[in-house]
Amino acid sequence: MALLQISEPGKSTDPHQHKLAAGIDLGTTNSLIATVRSGKAKTLPDLEGDHIMPSIVHYAKDGTVSVGKSAKLFVCSDALNTISSVKRLMGRGLKDVQKIKEFSANRLTASGTGMPAVETDCGIKNPVEVSSEILKTLVKRAEDSLEGELGGVVITVPAYFDEAQRQATKDAAQIAGVKVLRLISEPTAAALAYGLDTGSEGIHAIYDLGGGTFDISILRLEKGVFEVMSTGGDSALGGDDFDRAIAGYLVEQADIDKGDRGAYQMAMIKARDVKEALTDHDSVEINFKHWKGSMDRKLMESLIAPIVDKTLAACRRTLKDAGLKASEVQDIVMVGGSTRVPLVRQKVEDYFGKKPLTDIDPDKVVAIGAAIQADVLIGNKSDEDMLLLDVIPLSLGVETMGGLAEKIIPRNTPIPIARAQEFTTYKDGQTAMAIHVVQGERELVEDCRSLARFELRGIPPMVAGAARIKVAYQVDADGLLKVTAEETITGVKSDITVKPSYGLNDEQITTMLQSSVSHAEDDMKARMLREQQVEAKRVIEAVQAALAESGDKLLSKDERHAIEQALKQLAYISDNGDIEAIEEAIKVVDKSTEEFASRRMDASIAKALVGHEIDEI
Ligand code: ADP
Ligand code: MG
Repeated sequence: MALLQISEPGKSTDPHQHKLAAGIDLGTTNSLIATVRSGKAKTLPDLEGDHIMPSIVHYAKDGTVSVGKSAKLFVCSDALNTISSVKRLMGRGLKDVQKIKEFSANRLTASGTGMPAVETDCGIKNPVEVSSEILKTLVKRAEDSLEGELGGVVITVPAYFDEAQRQATKDAAQIAGVKVLRLISEPTAAALAYGLDTGSEGIHAIYDLGGGTFDISILRLEKGVFEVMSTGGDSALGGDDFDRAIAGYLVEQADIDKGDRGAYQMAMIKARDVKEALTDHDSVEINFKHWKGSMDRKLMESLIAPIVDKTLAACRRTLKDAGLKASEVQDIVMVGGSTRVPLVRQKVEDYFGKKPLTDIDPDKVVAIGAAIQADVLIGNKSDEDMLLLDVIPLSLGVETMGGLAEKIIPRNTPIPIARAQEFTTYKDGQTAMAIHVVQGERELVEDCRSLARFELRGIPPMVAGAARIKVAYQVDADGLLKVTAEETITGVKSDITVKPSYGLNDEQITTMLQSSVSHAEDDMKARMLREQQVEAKRVIEAVQAALAESGDKLLSKDERHAIEQALKQLAYISDNGDIEAIEEAIKVVDKSTEEFASRRMDASIAKALVGHEIDEI
């Protein structure tokens, strides 16, 4: 007889209580939705059996909105009202997408959100709205096939998405009316899919080349726990660039006028077909406009090789960040439709020195990982056996005196994370403090990116250096930053949730990282000089305050003159001299004020004693 199962009190899981959750890969080119059923994560097909949905939205004149395959039909016939690759606009500024604007079939314009929006015959559509249509369609697909309402979803975003881009993604889900359990990065989701399915441990590289973005992540996988060691990539690099390279060739062969946008659009579509066909065939025939010809795999590879090489350069940088050699990577997980291209597989294999993993369909692996995570987060599975860590891509810091950036959370720190540091006032009686939140690796604030500024007011007046201001940085699981400043004695507090101005792209992140390496030595020197200058300024202000207070009473005219001379000299050297000279000049001021300081000390003791009984002290 089989034993009856008894569950722990309060922990019973009634099978009917199984909550519905899904993972969504909200891709630039294609989107998918997946869910865990009977312990296995599967992507969900539409009624015709297609799992992959093009991330395309069409707005018809009469107000009808179509999404996916049905929207794709309008790409050529109604290009202006058909929006593709909207993810590239998410959380960006209009000036950041100049390159996209050139190639986009849409009319891009400014919108109230600060993001570029698309002008359609149905009005102006911002990227958040457009993305919400894609989400709505996927959620409907899931709810129809699962016959129930989704309790929540996990949506994936590229590892390099900044906070504005993450926020825009969350906003889209809100408009779509679906609860976001968490945003996780695409490569992390892929690792999750593989980690559970194969149980392999060690260091993994996740190479994700989609239509519009490239992500490389270095993860350590141990006993079901993932730690992201470093991430890198480029959000403006992908299969579209292959298409562009091939389309360029076609346009040239067919002698098409450069300004002919329609023809260019057609060339892009043709190019994609050619590219995808050449994954399985050695050569294809091409009919483009009046031009008839063919392309073999070799020719295509020569056109796209520089783009593939760019991805390998990013791999090199990211491995360096993690302090690893390519040979230390145990597995390379291939993600994204573009990793089907044989040249990509070959070059990745050559670079890492081993065959990359392609067991799980590279188009579906991200959605599958997201579904597994959603299942955990909705409470269908204990989350003890799974911890999922993401990292912040650039260090987060605060501006300190002299325009220096003090790092509070270093880059590649796993999130969620909270870190605090204490600061103090610079001036006697200072009652407010300006908090300037910056992002980047450089030592000087002017070389970092400004994320936000806010003020802490109501600090009780105290002597310089006495107040204790705790500045805490909190990055939540979705990668959103909250900064709090608190004066610890009185408890006055101020905070800000950072929604940085739209528009830092990966190229900029990469440039910021590279420049931090190439400027490391200069930066250190500049930092030390600034620190010395701040110290000089502090000394000058303190001595001036003392002179104003008791210079007349305690000093002769000559003594006072000598101190003032030393201050003048220090001020000059601070602006013009090097570190050693400033240090020397500070010593001179210290020496010249020694006597004055001791007289002040005596005077203040005398003052304190007045009116007090001796035994009181
Ligand atoms: P995204 O994550 O950007 O939405 P996907 O991972 O779905 O993108 O990948 C889309 C890209 O993969 C497109 O550029 C598409 O042309 C390319 N792709 C899909 N299938 C193939 C194939 N068989 N051969 C080559 N490229 C392919
Ligand atoms: Mg993708």
